Amino acid sequence: MTSTSHLSPATLPGTSAAPSGITARQPHEIVLAEPRGFCAGVDRAIEIVERALTKFGAPIYVRHEIVHNTYVVNDLKEKGAIFIEELSDVPPGATLVFSAHGVSKAIQLEAERRGFQVFDATCPLVTKVHVEVAKLHKEGFEFIMIGHKGHPEVEGTMGQLDSGIHLVEDVADVARISPLQTERLAVVTQTTLSVDDAAEITAAVKTRFPSVRSPKLQDICYATQNRQDAIKVLSPQVDIVIVVGSPTSSNSNRLRELAAKLGTEAYMVDDASELQEAWFEGKSRVGLTAGASAPEVLVRQVIDRIKALGAVSVRKMEGIEETIKFPLPKGLKLDAFGHTLEMGDSRLHQAT
Ligand code: SF4
Repeated sequence: MTSTSHLSPATLPGTSAAPSGITARQPHEIVLAEPRGFCAGVDRAIEIVERALTKFGAPIYVRHEIVHNTYVVNDLKEKGAIFIEELSDVPPGATLVFSAHGVSKAIQLEAERRGFQVFDATCPLVTKVHVEVAKLHKEGFEFIMIGHKGHPEVEGTMGQLDSGIHLVEDVADVARISPLQTERLAVVTQTTLSVDDAAEITAAVKTRFPSVRSPKLQDICYATQNRQDAIKVLSPQVDIVIVVGSPTSSNSNRLRELAAKLGTEAYMVDDASELQEAWFEGKSRVGLTAGASAPEVLVRQVIDRIKALGAVSVRKMEGIEETIKFPLPKGLKLDAFGHTLEMGDSRLHQAT
């Protein structure tokens, strides 16, 4: 895991100051948030689909968008992935990948019953929450889950149990829930929430249920926390914030909301084609970030487009370096020669 300190700005080598002659109506500098873009869970999930395609050939079925990004999903579709929501749309004998958001126990069992070859791309940080729910459930706990109704991660986590998880989306919801008992209650959260909103809701839960158990380490993941911390440093330095991310991406939406809450005009775009020239009128400094599921190629395209509107320099914030990497599932690991290791291959034990 990484720390969250020393997020001060620095100038990128090779960039230059705005030339004289730039009008106040044009952007002249782009400030890049650090860190931004892909997290370890997204990297791993995409790699699982790509390796499955290489090893087994197309089509590979993927339940739900592997990660919430239009570009990534379209790219994998072109390579032979088929995205489905219902397992009844997957033919017998097919290879199926679960998305990074995780699935309920019912989906896992159905996939097993239908006899698919399954590779689970659930982010290990989501799995960690599932494991915690299962463990505490055995000890008699009920749960208060802080998250967004209908989000696949919330459905997957709540679906770890048949009952006993109460969803709260905001502080008002805390007064509405009716657990069967209050001695053994635990809080779990979606991994991609606003850190500040989740803290506020957790405080309301603790006021109503003083003995509630909080996670030892917060469930909000390192990538969500780091990108939000970077926005807190970036926003006051710029006149406008652009977030690259798809509308379905929870963590990208939170970045835009956070910048706006901090008083900076903020927009989220799926790609450069959605940028509107009028947004940049009278804005000198443009802050740019990307959600955890948005690839850097889209950021580069947005930079080019803003440069075409007048920006002449790109400055990168100093930020923490994320080095975390999650292992691939067995059966999709590669040996030293780039060959996929087979299930049961003794080399897997050395490679794990
Ligand atoms: S945003 Fe966090 S929880 Fe989601 S895939 Fe990335 S690391 Fe995992």
